[in-house]
Amino acid sequence: MSIFAPGGSAPEQAATPGDDRFHEECGIFGVHGHPEAAKLAFYGLYALQHRGQESAGIAAADGHALRVHRGMGLVAEVFGPLDLARLEGHLAIAHNRYSTYGQVNLVNAQPLVVNCRAGMLGVAHNGNLVNAGELRRGMESEGSIFQSTSDTEVVLHLAARSRARDLVGMLRDALAHIRGAGSFLFATERALVAYRDPHGFRPLAIGKLGGATLFASETCAFDLIDATFERDVAPGELIVVDESGTQHLRVGGEQARHQCIFEHIYFARPDSKVFGENVDRARRRSGKQLAREHPVEADIVISVPDSSNTAALGYAQVAGLKYEIGLIRNHYVGRTFIDPEPGMRSFGVRVKFNPVVGVLRGRRVVVVDDSIVRGTTMRKLVRMLRLAGALEVHLRIASPPIAWPCFYGIDTPSRAELLAARASREEMRTALGVDSLGYLSLEGLRTCVEDPQNYCTACFDGHYPVDPFGTGEPDALRRASLEPAPESPAPRSP
Ligand code: SF4
Repeated sequence: MSIFAPGGSAPEQAATPGDDRFHEECGIFGVHGHPEAAKLAFYGLYALQHRGQESAGIAAADGHALRVHRGMGLVAEVFGPLDLARLEGHLAIAHNRYSTYGQVNLVNAQPLVVNCRAGMLGVAHNGNLVNAGELRRGMESEGSIFQSTSDTEVVLHLAARSRARDLVGMLRDALAHIRGAGSFLFATERALVAYRDPHGFRPLAIGKLGGATLFASETCAFDLIDATFERDVAPGELIVVDESGTQHLRVGGEQARHQCIFEHIYFARPDSKVFGENVDRARRRSGKQLAREHPVEADIVISVPDSSNTAALGYAQVAGLKYEIGLIRNHYVGRTFIDPEPGMRSFGVRVKFNPVVGVLRGRRVVVVDDSIVRGTTMRKLVRMLRLAGALEVHLRIASPPIAWPCFYGIDTPSRAELLAARASREEMRTALGVDSLGYLSLEGLRTCVEDPQNYCTACFDGHYPVDPFGTGEPDALRRASLEPAPESPAPRSP
């Protein structure tokens, strides 16, 4: 039986060819106090495109009305000059979506906007609320009607049902009910409100551009518009910006931080700062630590571009090996890819990656990748490298084995589909067809970030910091699992 599929049927095809990754959550951007707020939001979304490619939207307000434009596709496909011109006003919130909860369609595209007691209220959300289903069922049983299947709408309903007298009270009431991961931007006709969940799962940064206040999932969005990064929104902090100034409030008491460590491994751009740390630095450290834990005799180091480039550079530096470009990535493969006709040879992973034969032929190659989810793409890549003439292929992964799904806003397959949940290290090595396989240990990964105690690592160790099932037991999945826990990701030489 293939270890690539429980039950023996191999799920060879991921969402797009060469696509076997955790998927980014969403990107959000907000601006208050700029006459061209929607245009700034457009550029902000453009810089955050890597966090979501299914839909994009901007809601902008001019003190009298909150207007929204949303569409399916990439930011540049959704917005033209006329769309942006219609979004007049000095404040805007914006959203790139990769769906993690709810179906993929325009109804679920954000920002969501409703008319409630406080006037127009829009929301853009990055994350996943683990109690959204339970809250929704409760409200539906009392007559609430939902327009979308998105967990974000639950927050709007909670705010609309609040008895508080003003917007801030309504939002505080709503946010006190939710559990899970969430960085939020809310907009009314006059105010912009930012909120980050008390555990700080998802990033949210504050920036300044002249007198304007900005918010973004990653600081690379500030760089594009020459804005400056001020600081992160603190976990549990609610920031209200309107014509009277800025208020900083708290929702709930102080709680332990559980920032998503995968932001540093894969999601965030290396030119961003998230959770107060440079992504490039953390990622480079992961490659260096990987080289210390899993050295090997080889001729060159290559990366699986682009997300592994920085870790591969770190590996090569410590290993004293030459870093080469051995794979070329086609950046334009995506939703619009048309499969070849039946009878034509499947392009497979070659649609996305092509080997550089002159670099690989006759060489012993270390391939560095950031993570392995199902392993289907990697197996094909390894085959391709050997066909291109690589003498040996040594695979090094700059994160520990992913053996548990994420419930905090990342699109992951079920545990049964995760390669590391079903196979021993030697079985994985054989199945992937590599000469040696080395994963970064969890202890090693923790040395790559400042304040490692502030990070969630549940997809590696199965210890869920916030109960995903409402059972009162954060580790319920681990306890309920009939499968044995994966082998310890302790340092081990191949
Ligand atoms: S489970 Fe993994 S992907 Fe999900 S929030 Fe935790 S570290 Fe991030």
